[in-house]
Amino acid sequence: MDRNIEYRNGQMTMESVTMRQIAAAVGTPCYVYSAAGMERAYRRLEAAVLASKIPTTICFAVKANPNLAVINLFSKLGSGADVVSGGELERALRAGIAAERIVFSGVGKTRAEIARALEVGIGQFNVESPSELAMINRLAAAVNLVAPVVFRVNPDVDAATHAKISTGKKDNKFGIAIDEIPSLWQLALKLPNVKLLGLAVHIGSQINELGPSRQAFIKMRELVLNLRSQGAVIERLDLGGGLAISYRGEKTVAPEDFIALISEVIGDLGCQLILEPGRYLVGDSGVLLTEVLYRKSQSGREFAIVDAAMNDLMRPALYGSYHHIVPVAEAADGAPLTPFDIVGPICESTDSFTSGRELPPLAEGDLLAFLDAGAYGASMSNGYNSRPLVPEVMVKGDRFDVIRPRIGAEEFYKFDKLCNEC
Ligand SMILES: *Cc1c(COP(=O)(O)O)cnc(C)c1O
Repeated sequence: MDRNIEYRNGQMTMESVTMRQIAAAVGTPCYVYSAAGMERAYRRLEAAVLASKIPTTICFAVKANPNLAVINLFSKLGSGADVVSGGELERALRAGIAAERIVFSGVGKTRAEIARALEVGIGQFNVESPSELAMINRLAAAVNLVAPVVFRVNPDVDAATHAKISTGKKDNKFGIAIDEIPSLWQLALKLPNVKLLGLAVHIGSQINELGPSRQAFIKMRELVLNLRSQGAVIERLDLGGGLAISYRGEKTVAPEDFIALISEVIGDLGCQLILEPGRYLVGDSGVLLTEVLYRKSQSGREFAIVDAAMNDLMRPALYGSYHHIVPVAEAADGAPLTPFDIVGPICESTDSFTSGRELPPLAEGDLLAFLDAGAYGASMSNGYNSRPLVPEVMVKGDRFDVIRPRIGAEEFYKFDKLCNEC
């Protein structure tokens, strides 16, 4: 196991802390992250960027893992942030990221969110429609500011990833159709309270091959040249996120190859770059720990019912995603493998993490780890079935800290209130 995890003396260990220790201290289910793993991913991408000599700002896509401790870790490494809501904006600011290093993406920014972003001096709005452009101009005029904007281009490229995380086809809701950009650019030049900095593109997540990115970047290059031939000044290109991690041993795009592609296709344009990686920076540095509550055999299937559920880790239920599931105590050499269905306690048939997965013998009380759960894990967790919100732990060397406690039902229902009119 790469990912800063290995078996030591038969116990799964992250950096120098055993998962058994954390389960005993915090309880299960819980997320556990490796600070060293996150730092290593950032440094690797940063090194590739530096080698390219193109001035680039890495903006961590907060939605992949919005815990303040995680954002703060990237902030200390020099990262900016990509946010998609007012809530993420507040988190990024609170975690120490300067407003001018924050870019605001998203297809449906509210008036309140835009006003707040203007108030704090956000670095860039990624505009996704002519209506949004008009709204930003109006709200900026009201407070006598000039909003820095780029247009998010929909390049009509198929990212060849899961349909539910593909964002760059013309029938997706994202971005502005590439053919409409030149006329919108001319229109925007007449708006006194926006400053046009450049263009953005983001075609999807978990992109496993270079081809779709190449197509998108070539289209962006042609668009830049076309706009420049009409006198446009384009200083900035935001190339989005999408770098993949390997969930089941599949080949992924190396960050070095991704940056080499960028250099090749748009390196000569003289633009500053923004990158918005999320999953790549955090995905393989996190695990979800869970305990086997019960075993049962039913109509020829072996079930292990665990204490984690689809509300804690939604990806399998939402996208049919695969996560390696491994025992925290190393299985004996030559232990027989049996196909297991690993399911959670929630009253939904989709609350199943896997079916027929070959695993060594499992017994009640055994601890399991879902690997590669650092991205879109805790960030998508919720309190369905009035289950507590799953806690999060950060490991650093031989120490660990709880970076979000288990938030229980009473903390949720204290905001409910009996209806006075009833
Ligand atoms: C989600 C998102 C990202 C991050 O995507 P990853 O696949 O996690 O790298 C970046 N930019 C935008 C606009 C996004 O919506």
